Amino acid sequence: RRVENEKKRTVDNLRSPVVCVLGHVDTGKTKILDKLRRTHVQDGEAGGITQQIGATNVPIDAIKEAAKFVKGFTELAVRVPGLLLIDTPGHESFSNLRSRGSSVCDIAILVVDIMHGLEPQTLESIKLLKAKNTPFIVALNKIDRIYDWQPNAKRDVRDDVKGQSKLAMNEYTKRTNDVIVQFAEQGLNVALFYKNPDPNEYMSMVPTSAATGEGMGNLMALIVEYSQSMLTKRLMYSNELQATVLEVKAIPGLGTTIDVILINGALREGDTLILAGTEGPIVTQIRSLLTPQPMKELRVKNTYIEYKEIKGSIGVKIAAKDLEKAIAGLNVSVACQPDEVEFCRSEVAHELKSALSSIRLQERGVFVQASTLGSLEALLEFLRTSSIPYSGIRIGPVVKRDVMKASVMLEHDSQYAVILAFDVKIERDAQELADHLGVKIFHADIIYHLFDQFMAYRDELKAKKREEFKHIAVFPCKLKILPQFIFNTRDPILVGVSVEAGTVCIGTPLCVPSKGFVEIGKVTSIELNQKQVEKATKGQEVSVKIEPIPGDSPKMLGRHFEETDLMISKISRESIDACKEYFRNELQKADWQLMVELKKLFQIM
Ligand code: GDP
Repeated sequence: RRVENEKKRTVDNLRSPVVCVLGHVDTGKTKILDKLRRTHVQDGEAGGITQQIGATNVPIDAIKEAAKFVKGFTELAVRVPGLLLIDTPGHESFSNLRSRGSSVCDIAILVVDIMHGLEPQTLESIKLLKAKNTPFIVALNKIDRIYDWQPNAKRDVRDDVKGQSKLAMNEYTKRTNDVIVQFAEQGLNVALFYKNPDPNEYMSMVPTSAATGEGMGNLMALIVEYSQSMLTKRLMYSNELQATVLEVKAIPGLGTTIDVILINGALREGDTLILAGTEGPIVTQIRSLLTPQPMKELRVKNTYIEYKEIKGSIGVKIAAKDLEKAIAGLNVSVACQPDEVEFCRSEVAHELKSALSSIRLQERGVFVQASTLGSLEALLEFLRTSSIPYSGIRIGPVVKRDVMKASVMLEHDSQYAVILAFDVKIERDAQELADHLGVKIFHADIIYHLFDQFMAYRDELKAKKREEFKHIAVFPCKLKILPQFIFNTRDPILVGVSVEAGTVCIGTPLCVPSKGFVEIGKVTSIELNQKQVEKATKGQEVSVKIEPIPGDSPKMLGRHFEETDLMISKISRESIDACKEYFRNELQKADWQLMVELKKLFQIM
């Protein structure tokens, strides 16, 4: 059947390309989408823009209207029926548009703020786009913010740019060149679209302002031109079903539904649907296929229009039984005959497995749960860049089994006995078990909040551990007695010393290597220039009080050791481990070198 369907594809029957908007926060992604979606709808000049599920269809007539000032566009023989804009900008929805390992997003708009250049999430977006081989057009947004810029939206943006003052032009040119260099640093060739020498080699960049509308027509025209010249093969409509779950949503009156982007082929009421679920593949019958009512029909009682059959490319809501455990971010299959169900099930299971198996887990790390594959990936990417390791992942609500798995970390590294739950429910008995076992569950709908909670928790744990191990961790030091400052020779010893190397702290146990490592006591006070301090470092001269080890007979300066003897920290395997684990950053490189020297002296293995 696949072969049959393949044969029927032609250049005369293209589908609308699926367009995603990506970029750093606050660059204007939402505003650009709003502008593109509302193109001339208010004045009714070019209607036909339809709000769908998770996407908006902008038909070619509306695009032509929006791009009427764009030179050469009206003469272009347009072959795509329109653009299917994905409504939610950002990484997560891009990642959820996955089908058999590749992305169903045909082309992306990568938004860059001309005043800020490439920012952290721009780089993340680039990474995602590269990984999925998705072409993109750069919207160099907020040009209206350039000093002395005179906006004129009712013309081709090329003329708009040309018409600017010298001052504005200089800044525009400089900033644009900076951005081109920044892209080059990421290994990408980008050029202003009107200077692009070869669209095969260079991605195009359009100056835009979502505030004034400048460049919006050019942006649309470019997407259309690129799509039909470079993506023709990909956009030839096929009867072979290709559909991806964008979101799983509970809707009053409908139960749990899935929002699906249907790219190719058709779905019919009653079809047997197979899709990935948190507890294995789900097999169910399509109860209804729905899209929203057009805006003007808002008075109509039903919120949705129902279809017997619906064809791609379109965003559609599917109501059916047993969708509660569905996973967003993977494609759906339809079994045309009953004997196909098994095959579809194994295909769906395989797809989920291969998506998850590409995620590398560490031996020690937090446990991560999310509601969709896309959000899981977004969170993991964030944890990677923040150097937070993860040892387990799952899509779906937090249940007792997850807590058990996370609790394994209590034995290895308790700071990681943590579940980061992103936009998922936590079952009550799971929370109870976690409280009982000492597993922490953090829950948030925003990645950054989750991260902040975890970091605060980690700092708190660290502080606690430090307090606990303060007396075990011994910083290494070498002290020379200053003979002119011997105030008391016994119980407590009170002397002036110069710190020859390392760091002496309150609590540091001292011994004298030249007298058979005799242990003379612990430092209980340090004074620097008549002021109490917690520690003293190399080069400082301080007076220290050394009190005897409880239960040990007090040692005497002049009898058990001499003023010419060097005093050093008494370290042990245990103290070294505690330093490494909890005080690594407090010790300088030279301290660690001294530690190695002392370790040899004490013959610690
Ligand atoms: P997002 O986080 O990328 O979706 O960014 P938004 O679309 O929410 O925009 C962030 C802020 O920038 C909002 O206050 C917008 O009004 C503003 N903004 C967006 N595009 C432009 C633009 O082209 N020019 C100016 N001056 N402001 C803009």
